[in-house]
Amino acid sequence: EAKDDALIERVRTEGRNTPADVLVLVDAARLERASDLGLLRPSPSAALLRDVPLSLRDSQGRWYGLTRRVRVMVVNPALVKPASLRTYADLASPALRGKLCLRDRKSVYNQSLVADQILLRGQAATADWVKGMVANVSQPVFSSDTPLIRAVAKGQCGVGLVNTYYVARMLSGENGQADKEFAERIRVVFPTPAHVNISGAGVVRWSRNPAAALKLIEFLASPTGGKGYAEANNEYPLRGTGNNPTLNRLGSFQPDGIGAEQLGAANGKAVAVMEASGWK
Ligand code: FE
Repeated sequence: EAKDDALIERVRTEGRNTPADVLVLVDAARLERASDLGLLRPSPSAALLRDVPLSLRDSQGRWYGLTRRVRVMVVNPALVKPASLRTYADLASPALRGKLCLRDRKSVYNQSLVADQILLRGQAATADWVKGMVANVSQPVFSSDTPLIRAVAKGQCGVGLVNTYYVARMLSGENGQADKEFAERIRVVFPTPAHVNISGAGVVRWSRNPAAALKLIEFLASPTGGKGYAEANNEYPLRGTGNNPTLNRLGSFQPDGIGAEQLGAANGKAVAVMEASGWK
């Protein structure tokens, strides 16, 4: 268990000497990167074709989604009216001047969100959107989602963008009483339609137990295995919203239909747009 980029680097360096059979990563862009580097082997599976929706897996069977997360707006209702926010595009509104907080450009979550908007709205509209958001930022960019949620709760920002499981973790009390109280002060707004990303897994190219590795992935993606995995992680299962009571308190969402593989493929374009538009 380590950070995703470190795991990718480790398996890449170990190559045929790696003890790893299965590589589990978060974010479609990272799964795509591991595939591009040749770390994952195509693993056809009738069970996975059945259990993992088409939009949540690699077309060559190198990786399969296991859980879903949504990048949502967290709002301090004393500073910004939650009802004034409906889409990601609303975050570029001049009404939010000085009120927006963002995580940094290096965050793969933000890169995938920008890739998603490029696929939905085109590159020019997305570049304008990013510039509008950057103009609304008054605080230094954050390096992770949890401190950003705390800043919104404290009123240092009116609104920010974070992944659902970070809010759920705080709200459930898993992060301690102080974070629970912070989370209770903010509102979650699901942009409509919403950018959905995944955690996922693939069989490592050099696995010595590829059949068992695939069985493990099949189990984790199955309705039974997936339920335990997604719920424990405060994530959504591959279909539906699951039974995590904290997550269900946040409300429901309408996915925008952009596939995970598309997100990975558009990552380079997204990073270029973010750099050119001044996202720090
Ligand atoms: Fe995360």
